[in-house]
Amino acid sequence: MASEFDLIDQFFLRRAARPDVILGIGDDAAVLRPPVDCDLVLTVDTLVENVHFPAATDPESIGHKAAAVNLSDLAAMGAEPTWLTLALTLPSVDKAWLAAFSKGFLRLADQFGTALVGGDTTRGPLSMTVQAAGLVPRGQAITRTGALAGDGVFVTGEIGDAGLALTLLTSGKPIPPYCLQRLNRPTPRVEAGLVLRGIASAAIDVSDGLVADLKHILAGSGTGAVLDATAAPVSDEVRASLVSPADWRQPLVAGDDYELLFTVPAEKEPLLREQFCGLTASVTRIGQVVEKPGLLVKAGDDETLLFDEEGYDHFR
Ligand code: ADP
Ligand code: MG
Repeated sequence: MASEFDLIDQFFLRRAARPDVILGIGDDAAVLRPPVDCDLVLTVDTLVENVHFPAATDPESIGHKAAAVNLSDLAAMGAEPTWLTLALTLPSVDKAWLAAFSKGFLRLADQFGTALVGGDTTRGPLSMTVQAAGLVPRGQAITRTGALAGDGVFVTGEIGDAGLALTLLTSGKPIPPYCLQRLNRPTPRVEAGLVLRGIASAAIDVSDGLVADLKHILAGSGTGAVLDATAAPVSDEVRASLVSPADWRQPLVAGDDYELLFTVPAEKEPLLREQFCGLTASVTRIGQVVEKPGLLVKAGDDETLLFDEEGYDHFR
């Protein structure tokens, strides 16, 4: 790609937005200055065409989602996002595509005060790898391993919208615009993640599906949980798609929601609710951590839901 540098200048170079970026795009590597009293939190995610987004997805949404899924991982750790890098593989130089992609990507990066500090641009099948870095006060990162019996299980926002959109998309049926928006432009729950520091005993973001992701917390923490599926927060669109109690399985296995799923000790629940009053994301209690390993999911009082399909596994 002869014009790689022009492309970067045109679409990705910005005035340094953060004083902790000593050197951003343009040299062999970025130079960043994390505060001495913080831990650095680092994550990376790849999006591949037709695996993580359908080929027909508009490039602005792809850019948004590439940034969002990484910011969501930082949120789940309670980290404040700071710096991003972007490795982009493109089949050809399509300026209109790049303009829209970078618009979606940088808009979200700007929204959370993060800076794009470097990357790589290569030719090949469309894919992108984003690395996101963030900061937490030393020792305060929230992990998957701290849940204790008696803790409540909570989730932010609503679940199942992205999954419903994907199901309808695959079957060629009309998709409620709100659900499509949730699939293509997920909102990373960064502010919620910051609030959870010192409150949540364990946290994860819902990427593979609520049940699958909760199991990661339970396995990491050596505990079990009892969930009430019908307590799960869903939009009117998803609620309309649920007919029988068994249908409640659907939003619980749907991936791509990028909500935060976390556990909180009972004595910290009032503080949690108080803190969420100031946020745009809602918070809902959907179950409880128990000592006995395993996950029991009820749908109301009588029905117990079983899960064969436990979320999305790329190698299954
Ligand atoms: P090098 O060959 O030294 O690794 P490159 O030629 O790949 O450097 O990149 C030149 C500069 O542009 C580097 O600072 C790199 O971080 C940045 N860069 C390359 N591609 C991107 C991209 N897609 N987004 C942001 N920065 C990029
Ligand atoms: Mg170099």
